[in-house]
Amino acid sequence: MTQVAIVGGGWAGLACAVELAGAGVPVTLYEAARQLGGRARRVDWNGLAVDNGQHLMVGAYRATLGLLDRLATRQGVAQRPLVLDLPDFHLALPRLPAPLNLAWGLARCRGLGWRDKLAAARLMNVLRETGFRLPRDEGAGRFLARQQQPASLIDKLWGPLCVAALNTPLASASAQVFCHVLRDSLAGDRADSDLVLNRADLGKLLPDAAQAYLARHGGRVRLGTKVERIARRNGAWFLAGPDEAADRVVLATHATRVPELLADLPELAAVVRQVSTMDWQPILTLWLRFARTPRFPLPLLGLGGDQDPWAFQRDDLAAGLVSLVTSARGPHLDLAPAALQSHYLDLLARRLGPLPPLLDSLRIVEKRATFSCTPGLARPDNVTALPGLYLAGDYTAGDYPATLEGAVRSGLQCATLLQQGA
Ligand SMILES: Cc1cc2nc3c(=O)[nH]c(=O)nc-3n(C[C@H](O)[C@H](O)[C@H](O)COP(=O)(O)OP(=O)(O)OC[C@H]3O[C@@H](n4cnc5c(N)ncnc54)[C@H](O)[C@@H]3O)c2cc1C
Repeated sequence: MTQVAIVGGGWAGLACAVELAGAGVPVTLYEAARQLGGRARRVDWNGLAVDNGQHLMVGAYRATLGLLDRLATRQGVAQRPLVLDLPDFHLALPRLPAPLNLAWGLARCRGLGWRDKLAAARLMNVLRETGFRLPRDEGAGRFLARQQQPASLIDKLWGPLCVAALNTPLASASAQVFCHVLRDSLAGDRADSDLVLNRADLGKLLPDAAQAYLARHGGRVRLGTKVERIARRNGAWFLAGPDEAADRVVLATHATRVPELLADLPELAAVVRQVSTMDWQPILTLWLRFARTPRFPLPLLGLGGDQDPWAFQRDDLAAGLVSLVTSARGPHLDLAPAALQSHYLDLLARRLGPLPPLLDSLRIVEKRATFSCTPGLARPDNVTALPGLYLAGDYTAGDYPATLEGAVRSGLQCATLLQQGA
């Protein structure tokens, strides 16, 4: 019998497994797929390693960056001061202590009038005074309007930021979670607002190194092993599928898998109800391979408003590689792939000038990339009503929207709770 079973080898399950194995706790990680990483994984594209979806981190992702440090893969990311560059908007934060960096950045920002800049500064002051806590949650669009944020400021700054961070359209996004994002990215330590750009494929950043770490620390990883159900038998947890028993279980799957796995545990019916009401948002990534690397003035460029893609220069993976990523539901998903590609190439050329010949492209739509981060959404706790059974994953209770940081924090939190016997 394994001491701790971790079901799911995404970033939440891996963070938990590494933490426990490092503390000498025997763990077995069960992963249904043939590879680790879940929604943040390497994909093979005709022999080229790319990501299932372009990911971006920020300096405030302390748990994730700490995990990369622990696994010695931090050199696979590049951290640089925040620059948001859109067609008629440019905000760059200087290397000054917070909040001076934001004040200076806003003062120098291109594309916003003085009215916009003052409104942005006023909003940040109001939020700072209230500790970034709202008396009640509401739609981010409504909240910004109530805070008298001008439409131009919402279009150019708050909208793109909210959709990129929460992967939920502004009108239906949680104002409270958006405020958490503002707190941690724009109002924390200077380096918290830094952009952290991947300079290696997602597999190298975490799954490969975590698997090697687990092997060195006596952890077992069982790939291609789907757990069908979790049940209580003879004082232990029984995992149907692999048909193995465990003292304790950390369930670290996508939320949509939770109801079937917990179907035999009526005590957890409330959790099943909570996750069953969650709505999902897609993310579309278009990989473009050009004959040579187009010249990017910055490694990350916005191509338009909140329904248009962000472009990333990914020549770290191969010369000529560019990824375009569009968050949330929107009209782009109704376009035929060829029409979408030609529209996106047009937007890219408007920013970069004539593009080199295109050799190949790959379109990936992750339909259930993240939960819709809506106002007042109830998310299950890491501890459940059944002692010894924990929930990890980006959807569990926390300040963050569905992100790598939310996933990693939840995994680490489960490891802590489990060791405390909570
Ligand atoms: C395209 C895309 C772009 C994104 N961009 C960003 C970004 O820029 N920044 C950011 O911070 N976040 C981003 N995210 C969100 C981030 O990837 C997720 O929040 C995070 O990866 C979730 O990790 P997780 O471990 O909670 O869940 P998952 O990654 O879903 O992991 C769950 C794992 O459980 C396994 N599993 C499921 N059922 C079973 C079973 N029955 N038995 C065994 N194993 C099972 C699955 O195969 C999977 O590997 C993006 C997501 C996508 C899809």
